[in-house]
Amino acid sequence: MNTMKAALVQSFTEPLVIGDVPLPSPGPFQALVRVRYSGVCHTDLHAAHGDWPVRPTLPFVPGHEGVGTVIEIGDQVTRLKVGDTVGNAWLWSACGDCEYCQTSWETLCPDQVNGGYSVDGSFGTHMLVDSRYAPIIPAGVDVAAVGPILCAGVTVYKGLKMTDTQPGDWLLISGIGGLGHIAVEYARAMGRRVVAIDIDDAKLDLAVQHGAEVTVNAASVEDPAAEIIERTGGGVHGALVTAVNAHAFPQAVGSLRRGGTVSLVGLPPEKFPLDIFTTVLFGLTVRGSIVGTRRDMTEALDFFARGLIHPTYKLRHLDEINDIFTDMSAGDISGRIVLDLN
Ligand SMILES: [Zn+2]
Ligand SMILES: [Zn+2]
Repeated sequence: MNTMKAALVQSFTEPLVIGDVPLPSPGPFQALVRVRYSGVCHTDLHAAHGDWPVRPTLPFVPGHEGVGTVIEIGDQVTRLKVGDTVGNAWLWSACGDCEYCQTSWETLCPDQVNGGYSVDGSFGTHMLVDSRYAPIIPAGVDVAAVGPILCAGVTVYKGLKMTDTQPGDWLLISGIGGLGHIAVEYARAMGRRVVAIDIDDAKLDLAVQHGAEVTVNAASVEDPAAEIIERTGGGVHGALVTAVNAHAFPQAVGSLRRGGTVSLVGLPPEKFPLDIFTTVLFGLTVRGSIVGTRRDMTEALDFFARGLIHPTYKLRHLDEINDIFTDMSAGDISGRIVLDLN
């Protein structure tokens, strides 16, 4: 029997186990991919710990920022061929026929399949993809660096679009981690003026390196929202909250200019208070945004392929996955970790 190497979650309370598992063969519409690199997302940590209401079925292989080469295709595959460079993604597949899929909102499909969660992901030498949904990696791009675009990149790109801001507008990026530092670059590439907020000066330096114009350390000023309103001449037109700290949410809403929109992509488990009076009188919008559609993915990859987006990342090996999760839990990662599976 052919096997592949993978990092398996066998229990929600134990470290991942690196071992050999059977090599899957592609079913209809599927392709088998030799994975070369995979980004590590905070969601992988939540998946491995079983943090969310619907847990993955054990055992499973996490990872939804994988990039590799198609080595075999199943029946009815027309969109991919052997040798193509493709990725997996959180939106691994969807039903294609519900009201959301029919209106190009496949990210909201109740029957969607999620990479590295409800189907095995990219923390291994091989993975399956659905040829109808797998992101096609543009020719000539750096395959080590493109992984973080497949979740972090598309998530912030879509989230930024959902702020309904215009070129020249002020945009607040809250939380400069794996998502936030890439959000700063997308916002800049989209012509927005970026305010970055975090509680760690090193992360604010990273935001400046990626193009932030104004930075605020929320831990060292008395009223971060008031500070942002003052430094932007009235508040930001839009905000994207990637932070996993619940305090960041009311802070972002409080930093908005009248008529502003805050787009939420970070997923802390807490709730946050929303001031009804100011929300109504200032005409504010608060909305959630989850990953991006296939079209958003194509657009996000196009920004990357044109050299406008440069994720900060560090290459590490699959054997180090438990150490990587420990660092991630402690907030000790600058930018993104990418697994080298070559
Ligand atoms: Zn992710
Ligand atoms: Zn659907």
